[in-house]
Formats: sequence, C-alpha cells, structure tokens
Amino acid sequence: MKIEEDGRVFPVSNSSQTIIDCFLEEVKKYKIKVLLNHSVQDLNVKNDFWELNTTKGVFSANKLLIATGSNPKIWSLLESLGHEVISPVPSLFTFNIKDQRLKTIPGVVAMDVHVSVVGSQLESEGPLLVTHAGLSAPSILKLSAYGAIELAETNYKFQIQVNFIKQTLLSCLAHLLEVKKELPKKTILKSTQFNLPKRLWGQLVLASEIRADFRWADVNKDKIQALACQLTQAVFAVDGKSTFKEEFVTAGGVELKGVNFKNFESKHYKNLFFAGEVLNIDAVTGGFNFQNAWTSAFIAAQQLSK
Ligand SMILES: Cc1cc2nc3c(=O)[nH]c(=O)nc-3n(C[C@H](O)[C@H](O)[C@H](O)COP(=O)(O)OP(=O)(O)OC[C@H]3O[C@@H](n4cnc5c(N)ncnc54)[C@H](O)[C@@H]3O)c2cc1C
Repeated sequence: MKIEEDGRVFPVSNSSQTIIDCFLEEVKKYKIKVLLNHSVQDLNVKNDFWELNTTKGVFSANKLLIATGSNPKIWSLLESLGHEVISPVPSLFTFNIKDQRLKTIPGVVAMDVHVSVVGSQLESEGPLLVTHAGLSAPSILKLSAYGAIELAETNYKFQIQVNFIKQTLLSCLAHLLEVKKELPKKTILKSTQFNLPKRLWGQLVLASEIRADFRWADVNKDKIQALACQLTQAVFAVDGKSTFKEEFVTAGGVELKGVNFKNFESKHYKNLFFAGEVLNIDAVTGGFNFQNAWTSAFIAAQQLSK
C-alpha cells in the first residue's frame, strides 16, 4: 500500500486488480465455495433458519451475512423484514457552478483552499480544481461526501464560500495594503500574490471591480478590501452536480440504530449480519469505503465462525 499526501491509500500498483487478486488468493487458500450468478430474489426466516431464494435455487443457513453493497432490491427486502433503510443518495460528486470568475479558467488549480457550505457546518480543505462545469478536486469531493444527505435535500442548489489562501480577511487586507505601499507603480493584475495561479488571481482582481490596467496606487482601500474578500470569502452559487470520473459511492442504507456494532448483527433478527456499503456508512474516496467493508466483514465473520 502507499499513502498519498492527502491521506488517501492505494495499492502501489495503482490497480484495483491487485485488491481483487488478494481476495481471490484467500478464497483459493481457504477453499471457499463461491457461487456466481445466484441473484438473491427473496429471503425469509423459518424456524431459526434463513432461506434464500436465488435465480438458481433455494439455500438455507442458520447464519446469514448480507454484503450486497448498494443493491436496491436487497434494501427493499430488508425493509419488508422491518429494517429501516435510509434512502440512498450519491456521495462523491463535483459542483456545477456558472460564474464569470471561473468561466475562462478551466484547468486552474489552487493548491490548498478552505471551502464551506453557507449556512451549514459543512467544511473541508485541500486542492481545488476549476473545471468546465464548475469546481472539483479533493476539497470539493470531501465536501460532497460529508454533506451527501444534506446537499441532496437542497436539490443540489446551495452556496459555498471559498477561502483561496486560508488566511483571515484582516491578515489578507494587511498584506495587500503593504504591497500597495511597496509597489505603487505595478499593475495589480500582473502582481500575483499568495502563490495563487496567475489566471485565478486575475479573475479575482477583475471581480473586485479593479480594472485590468489599474496600478496599486490607483485603487482606494475599499477596492483592496473587495479584493481581500474575493481572496478569503468568495461566494459561489452551486446549481447541480456531476459525477467524478466513474467513481461513485452511495450514502444511505440500513439504518445504523438497527445494528449492534459489537458484532454487526441485526437488532431485529438473531443470526442476521451486515457488512460494507449495505449499511448507512460512507466515506471519502481513498480506501476508507473499502476499510468499512473489510472491518465490518472481519468483525461479523468472527461471530459467524462461532
Ligand atoms: C468505480 C469505483 C471506484 C471506487 N473507488 C474507491 C476507492 O478508491 N476507495 C474506496 O474506499 N472505495 C471506492 N469505491 C467504493 C467501494 O468500491 C465500495 O464502498 C465497496 O466496494 C463496498 O463493498 P461491499 O462489499 O459492501 O459492496 P460491493 O463491492 O458493491 O459488493 C456487493 C456484492 O453483492 C452482490 N449482490 C448485490 N445484490 C445481490 C443479490 N441480490 N444477490 C446476490 N448478490 C448480490 C454484487 O454483485 C456484489 O458482488 C469505489 C466504487 C466505484 C464504483
């Protein structure tokens, strides 16, 4: 495994096949019987035995572990058995934003920003990428995961505030006033500060109603304050979402109150266990969804093997 700078964990090979191979090796080693193409259509409990109706026959067992990921059919079967299921919503997406400041600069990356959703506790930090559709990269994807259910409730219409330089308004203002003193004859557009990408700096300057040919000496404190606001408190209106590459994680699933986390057994039925994404647990990308699946499966398996 390798850990990337932002804490995401991947196999050194960068290939998901490595993970698949790892599990197939274990299956071989422990001679586990894997039945493919046996889609479960129904499940019932009869005299302490679980009965599974599959497309290729009926199976019964005294203990049952459900690890069917985000399969809606199984969620509705579990609902009919009395388990509450939180409606699934996507949890890893980019924000659609139509804004003059972003329109001409797709591809630009700000290396470390702070982003928050206006009027909520949701916030995150990290790189920010301007795309043709709006904003992306880890700072946005993390926010989409933390706020999956809350943002779905807004129908993906909300405002975000971006602090491009992770400084307070006051310290930013003090720095800009210092630059004004030191470089009065320099054009503001051409004197990028805070190591920002030039094109992003240019858009934030123009958004502060500072003309492209203005020098630092030409602007009053109000304009400099407007620029400091753009740098530290820029507000963008989000209208919709897009899928990030092909990655897709689902928030929602079996309500956690119905599960005993000592062994991942149902609180409604004895000998019924859950593991992985079927539960209402989701995480940011970078191995943490897999970690949830494997940890829950490991704990439940200890109970199953008793
Ligand atoms: C493209 C992509 C990239 C991802 N990248 C990452 C990543 O980098 N890091 C990370 O942590 N997470 C990532 N995820 C999320 C991660 O894959 C899931 O969280 C994880 O696989 C969940 O594991 P699971 O075993 O609970 O469910 P799943 O892996 O979805 O497995 C469920 C299994 O149940 C079977 N099943 C479903 N219904 C039935 C039925 N009725 N009868 C019989 N069998 C059934 C399915 O065929 C499937 O084999 C990614 C997801 C996708 C789609």
